[in-house]
Amino acid sequence: MSGAFQAPRGTYDVLPEQAAARERLERTARRLLEGAGYRRIETPAFEATELFARGVGESTDIVQKEMYTFEDAGGRSLTLRPEGTAPVCRAYLEHGMHKLPQPVKLWYLSSFFRYERAQAGRYRQFWQIGVEAIGSDDPAVDAEAIVLLQALLQELGVRGVRLRLSSLGSPETRAAYRERLQAHLHANAGELAREVRERIDLNPLRAFDSDHAGTQAVMVRAPRLLDELSPDDAEHFEAVCALLDAAGIPYEIDPTLVRGLDYYTRTVFEFTSDALGAQSGVGGGGRYDGLMEQLGGPPTPGTGWAAGIERMLLAADSTPVPQPVVDLYVAREDGGRDDASAAFALAAQARRAGLNVQLELAGRSLKGQLKQAGRLGARFVAIVGGQEGTRLRDMESGDQESVDGADAAVARVLRGRHPA
Ligand code: AMP
Repeated sequence: MSGAFQAPRGTYDVLPEQAAARERLERTARRLLEGAGYRRIETPAFEATELFARGVGESTDIVQKEMYTFEDAGGRSLTLRPEGTAPVCRAYLEHGMHKLPQPVKLWYLSSFFRYERAQAGRYRQFWQIGVEAIGSDDPAVDAEAIVLLQALLQELGVRGVRLRLSSLGSPETRAAYRERLQAHLHANAGELAREVRERIDLNPLRAFDSDHAGTQAVMVRAPRLLDELSPDDAEHFEAVCALLDAAGIPYEIDPTLVRGLDYYTRTVFEFTSDALGAQSGVGGGGRYDGLMEQLGGPPTPGTGWAAGIERMLLAADSTPVPQPVVDLYVAREDGGRDDASAAFALAAQARRAGLNVQLELAGRSLKGQLKQAGRLGARFVAIVGGQEGTRLRDMESGDQESVDGADAAVARVLRGRHPA
């Protein structure tokens, strides 16, 4: 075993052959979201730990066991961001975005960090595309955000997409419901998984997420939050559903849907893909009308979602992305150093003219250089340094002609690139 380093567990390298599909995904998201009036925001990779403790919620798995928290040399407790909503809300408050026309619609493309059990589709550094629409409680904001994520998944060719939808109501409804649910869990404590039993007081809602058979049986009989919404919240939820119906978006109402973050109120939703294994969530989100106050701001409603880039790539049809065309490969007659500056100058001039150019960099023989140009699919090869000056070879026809200097070579390749 050599002692060479490997990337830390749960992290991965994006290799050049994977970068093109990723860039295509990013371009699609940018076009779609900016077309709908969302503007890009980027926040720092780390924030004060307190932001997540208060914003995401002390009782959540994220805050309890998944954060990368460290103290810096100045003694401040900082945390690598585990999610994007709390930082974006922090930025909204910090930059006085309430003065802008509302809702303020923001999107981001960033990496996030969670100490989770690493497996296929689940990493410790992962990437999300997300949106936040802040400053309006109109159900149309929720519905539009959902429609946008649906459109993104569709355009990317994500297979087997399903949308689950629910409402968590207001904090008051949830508090009353929480007590009823806790009573139900205590009454059936003997049948629950130990982990669920230990968290009855801290986070009873998470019991709905358990894959333990006994717990699931107890949860089938549990009271449902959706049946206990206040009239206002029920009306809001019905409006969201009606708008999705109007947009022709299929969904399932799932009263057991709970998301792993504490800040949600009213609408919550999750998109899954049948093409993925155990980690089937591709994206999800919801409304967080109480979050701004938690962060010390004035009451300000908001809605958002985040979708995992790795999961979308795993679940999407993978049509190969074409490589950029190589217009010109600059070779050297004797493969030696003498012609290096002439070749270098020609490549630089051709690039200034807008051509995609590659240069021989490995000291191959002329035969080897032509082979390499063929592998790259180069359209022309310029052979610099021969007796009769620079020659230009059309790789498709195999024709070879002498050209009088770099200007002529570039002009000829440009003509070949844009046939009259
Ligand atoms: P969340 O921020 O937990 O609501 O997650 C939103 C989306 O981010 C999920 O549906 C996944 O697609 C993705 N995601 C969350 N956690 C991870 C992770 N550890 N590794 C890869 N993707 C993740």
